[in-house]
Amino acid sequence: MDREREAGWRPATRLVRGGTHRSAHGETSEALYLTSGYVYDDAEAAEARFKGADGFIYSRYGNPTVAAFERRLALLEGAESCFTTASGMAAVFAALACQLKAGDHIVASRVMFGSCHVVITEILPRFGMRATLVDGRDPDAWRAALAAGARAVFLESPANPTTELVDIAAVAALAHGAGARLVVDNVFSTALWQRPLALGADVVVYSATKHIDGQGRCLGGAVLASEAFVKNELVPFCRHTGPSLSPFNAWVMLKGLETLPLRLARHGESATTVARHLERHGAVGRVLYPGLNSHPQHALARRQMSGFGSIVAFDLPDGKAAAFRFLDTLRLIDISNNLGDAKSMITHPATTTHQRLKPEERAALGIGDGLVRLSVGLEDVDDLIEDLDQALDHLTRV
Ligand SMILES: *Cc1c(COP(=O)(O)O)cnc(C)c1O
Repeated sequence: MDREREAGWRPATRLVRGGTHRSAHGETSEALYLTSGYVYDDAEAAEARFKGADGFIYSRYGNPTVAAFERRLALLEGAESCFTTASGMAAVFAALACQLKAGDHIVASRVMFGSCHVVITEILPRFGMRATLVDGRDPDAWRAALAAGARAVFLESPANPTTELVDIAAVAALAHGAGARLVVDNVFSTALWQRPLALGADVVVYSATKHIDGQGRCLGGAVLASEAFVKNELVPFCRHTGPSLSPFNAWVMLKGLETLPLRLARHGESATTVARHLERHGAVGRVLYPGLNSHPQHALARRQMSGFGSIVAFDLPDGKAAAFRFLDTLRLIDISNNLGDAKSMITHPATTTHQRLKPEERAALGIGDGLVRLSVGLEDVDDLIEDLDQALDHLTRV
């Protein structure tokens, strides 16, 4: 692998060719090394490998297919290093747990993926860490929460499901001032639309299950950071606790990366078209999409993102009953809580992804009973709009 040449490539080239390591057979497509272990020429070679010589030892530690995927992701992100995991949640948990210990304080923006909320407010506190959640839009809230110091700061931007944003550069400065590292969950944007490390974050995490696979096949996750963080904190934690990514899933996602820019361009265009259409529709309340002028943080979106995502959230004025009727009337768009898929999917967060929250908590986060979250897929956008329109017509007729 010629690292210098790879680093000179533009993003689309990195995504097609980065990390490729052809075997002696000269295969065109990347080989899938479905192996758990490796053999050594002699006992001395085994000893040397365990002492740190180049080469693989066991697939819980590393695997050639997984390594190719990690290299390609690191090139895309512009990160020094990457370690991939069995799911996005394994990546979130490992990125935090590898650097925290009992007594540490973690500060997080309160709008986040349901399982991230459970990890930060329930699981880590069982091991003696203390969590404070803040309104991520409010710099004073961050300042107050960080005043007593913190070890880690966690945020998701745009956040699930309301597409609320956090000013990553501003929070990175506050976190560093308090002695904390900033961990950003960049799932909604991917590295093509938002570069948290360039904005000052220390660690970026992904659910590769979403746009990176992009076709709803495999679970996977990734953590990207400096060489020192990955080598000294993350890898020792993961080697021994075992959240390793399957080589098969790594291979599927490695191939997924080759088409990521094409897919994201279409996701973004169609999401913009759908959001604008919904905004003009009389039967729809508030439409939340960072690319709309009407988004409360549109100026920030323009500053820190180069594309606005595939997720559009909107309110149906008559609450849960109307939202359920709307979902049940859709003919093309699937009811599913997954996102970033080629297939368009819609979910009702209050009764699915965010049902664990108390009603007051949901209200504070802007997750009303009429809110629905649409992941705009790769179908022809006119078919999506026709489907949304027939379901909205049905609502106004009943
Ligand atoms: C899906 C998701 C996760 C968790 O990823 P899994 O691969 O499902 O474990 C974490 N954060 C965000 C923002 C997500 O959308």
